[in-house]
Amino acid sequence: MTVATPPREARNQRSYWGNVFSALRSTAAGMRITFRYLWSKPVTIQYPDEKLPTDDRYRGIHYLEQDLCICCDACAKACPIDCIEMDATRHGKELEWHQFELDYQKCMFCELCVYPCPKDCIHMGKEYAFVTEDRGELLLDLLTWKGLTEQQKIRIAEAEARKAAKAAARKKKEAEAAEPPAAGEPPAGGEDKEDA
Ligand code: SF4
Ligand code: SF4
Repeated sequence: MTVATPPREARNQRSYWGNVFSALRSTAAGMRITFRYLWSKPVTIQYPDEKLPTDDRYRGIHYLEQDLCICCDACAKACPIDCIEMDATRHGKELEWHQFELDYQKCMFCELCVYPCPKDCIHMGKEYAFVTEDRGELLLDLLTWKGLTEQQKIRIAEAEARKAAKAAARKKKEAEAAEPPAAGEPPAGGEDKEDA
């Protein structure tokens, strides 16, 4: 028994309307998803204009409270891969800073440099966007200023003036003690001898 096949034209017409129906159905399915999310709060942000908040414990790029730092080297010694280098000249209690560099080509953000700091002045910040095409820029100086501030210069000058005044007073005292006694006056320490 032979099955009669519909003519070619009728077959084409059926697949045409089938395609139209399929296109309409998939468009409707897509639009249903679009409308479902159209008024909901977006989960994406316009980075880098907007940034998501980081966790409190996030370990980002370091920052230094330079005014508290005493250049003790404890953080550099604690670093397992030697990526901290610092240099400063001491003027009494004041520090003239030259360098406090951290090499982010090596740093693994382990935070081991933070814990031993006796002044609690080196911290891991929240900043994470540190992208560059130049490796040299990954050597970051954490200093806010270099050299001496005006305040430090004033304090150094005051300390030197105090030191000079003390030295002058000591010299004067020594000169007075070395002077021979005037006529009629007992020699220095003479009374003590008599008392003894
Ligand atoms: S975070 Fe770790 S690797 Fe980076 S400087 Fe501190 S101690 Fe060194
Ligand atoms: S341990 Fe603290 S005080 Fe000492 S050099 Fe490092 S940051 Fe400065």
